[in-house]
Amino acid sequence: MLGNVHEIYHSVSGEGISQGIPTIFIRFAGCSLRCGKTENKKLWCDTPYALGPNQGNSMDLDSIIKEVETIDPFGTSQILLTGGEPLEGKNGEMSSLICKYIFQTRIHTNKPYPAPRIETNGKETITDETDRVYTMDYKLPGSGMEERMEKENFSVLRKRHNILDEIKFVVRDRYDFERSLEVLREFSPDTNILYSPVFGEMDANELVEWIKKENPPKARLSLQIHKVLWGNKKGV
Ligand code: SF4
Repeated sequence: MLGNVHEIYHSVSGEGISQGIPTIFIRFAGCSLRCGKTENKKLWCDTPYALGPNQGNSMDLDSIIKEVETIDPFGTSQILLTGGEPLEGKNGEMSSLICKYIFQTRIHTNKPYPAPRIETNGKETITDETDRVYTMDYKLPGSGMEERMEKENFSVLRKRHNILDEIKFVVRDRYDFERSLEVLREFSPDTNILYSPVFGEMDANELVEWIKKENPPKARLSLQIHKVLWGNKKGV
C-alpha cells in the first residue's frame, strides 16, 4: 500500500482551533477540485504544486512514519494530513493507516494530540472513527465547487460529536456568506465553524463585521498565520 506524498515538514498549524500548535504536515499530492477557478476569476488554491497526481512520491507507511519520527522523536507535535486531498483515492487508505498507527502509539502514553487532524475538501466521505479529527471544508458558490460537496458528511459530524472537529467556509463575497448561513440553518452542525476570507479578494475586516452581526453558533474568524509569517512560501 503506497500513498502519494508531496512533502512532510514541521511548522505550526496555520488556522482553525489548532492554530499555532507545533505540527507535522503530511501533504498528499492529488486533488480533483479546482477551487475558485471560474470563467473570469483565478484559482485560489494555496497548494497548486500538489494538485496533480504526479506531484508526489510513492511512500509506504513505514517510510512516512520514519520521516515523522525523525522530525519529532518524542511524538509531541500534532500530525496534520493535508493536500492536495488526503482522502482521495489511495491517499485515503494511507491516511487511515497513519491515523490508526499514530493514535495507537500515542493514546496510552499520555502524549498530546493522539488523533491526527485531517484537512479534507468536503467532497470525500468522512467516517465516525475516533482515531482522527476533521477540518472539513464546505465549498461555497464562489469556489465553483459546491455541487461536488458530500452533504451526508454533516450527519457523520453530528454522530461523531467531537469537540475538535471543525467546518471551514472560505468566503469570496457576501453571496458566499449568505449561502453559509443557509447551510448552517439546513444542517445545524454542532462543530466549530471557521470563516476564512479568500486571500487577496475578500476584506477580512468586512467579514468580521458580518460574523459579528449574524453570530452563527460556534463561529470564529480564521486567518492563515503562516501567510502572515512567511507569505506564500512553501513548506513552512
Ligand atoms: S480542495 Fe483544497 S487542494 Fe483541492 S483545489 Fe480546493 S483548495 Fe486546492
